[in-house]
Amino acid sequence: MTDHNMKKLKTLGKRYARATAMAHTEALNLLAAELGFAHWKALTDASKEGWLPSDEDLAKTGEIVRQAGARTETAVSQGEFTCIDDPAPEEGELSSHKYRIGDHLGDVVVSGEGWDLRIPEAPYKAPIAEIDERHAESSPIKDPSFLAELLNIAKARRTRIRAKIAVDWPRRSTKANLDGVARHPLGGGEASTWYCHSCDAQISGPQVAENFWHCPNCGTHPLNIRAVPFDEENPGEPVPTLGTAQRENPEIRIVEPRLTLHLNEETVSLLIRCALLEDAASVNERLGAMRAEISLIDGEEVWITFDEMLWPENKEPTSALAVAKKLGLDVEQELSLFTEPFAWPDLGSMTSKTADFATTLIDAYEAHGVIKR
Ligand SMILES: [Zn+2]
Repeated sequence: MTDHNMKKLKTLGKRYARATAMAHTEALNLLAAELGFAHWKALTDASKEGWLPSDEDLAKTGEIVRQAGARTETAVSQGEFTCIDDPAPEEGELSSHKYRIGDHLGDVVVSGEGWDLRIPEAPYKAPIAEIDERHAESSPIKDPSFLAELLNIAKARRTRIRAKIAVDWPRRSTKANLDGVARHPLGGGEASTWYCHSCDAQISGPQVAENFWHCPNCGTHPLNIRAVPFDEENPGEPVPTLGTAQRENPEIRIVEPRLTLHLNEETVSLLIRCALLEDAASVNERLGAMRAEISLIDGEEVWITFDEMLWPENKEPTSALAVAKKLGLDVEQELSLFTEPFAWPDLGSMTSKTADFATTLIDAYEAHGVIKR
């Protein structure tokens, strides 16, 4: 049991480091101090001499770890960091085009009449410009110098907002020391190598400080930057030094922002099949509706091929015809012989209740055939 307690204490130490974004050894030292030892080494030395954490010790440590975790979570949920994610949007004008600039989940979003420009938080990911197709010809976004100017405005906003937040941070958080050691601005703890728990990148102290504690690889939030890797066996790859690496060129997309009904084969057959199910009276007809082959020819004509064993030859699919008419489509119907789903196709024409049909079907197979699973 006691050995087990030592193991539990180590696990708690690891959790404490995660919860506080503290270096692992630092977290262990703090917990050891709570239990009356000078540091973790003193605790492990004592354990070799026979001292082991009692259940009360574990309960006390567990509570400290739980509170540390809760503090981090409350800080996030109470929006202590909302200033990082959602600073107030601003309005502006560029070459007589009005725009609005704001932030959404760490990305900077600039919108104008008939266009949106999203600059991802990750520094090298391509910005995405979407132009409403109704403005496709006239959009200022198509002018490379206008777009470049907007990207500069977005960049300046990001830097300004991050710098504003960093004013309250310890100096060691915005500038690493000569050994590359930087201090986490929110969780505390100092280290020269940091780990992104979102993309597993290894980040140097100067890199993370310069990037205002966002991951230079994936752009994630400072709370995901920790002093210990998410998986200690796979600590991830170091982020390459920034150097002259540039953001990818913007991607421009022409989009239709309005809700669009595409009348293609998929949607047309879905509507026609839905109507056929409404037309179906018996189990067989429902099976026939589900198994009918429906194709759209040249966007003008619907071909419905029924299984002749399931759909009665002279039955008019009135709802399906009404739907086709509404969609402006002609209808061609034909019967064909399909592979039967079940033997004795007559059974399904005698009832409209699937449960009754299943009972008769199982009885018939038990009497005249075999059921395999
Ligand atoms: Zn990352």
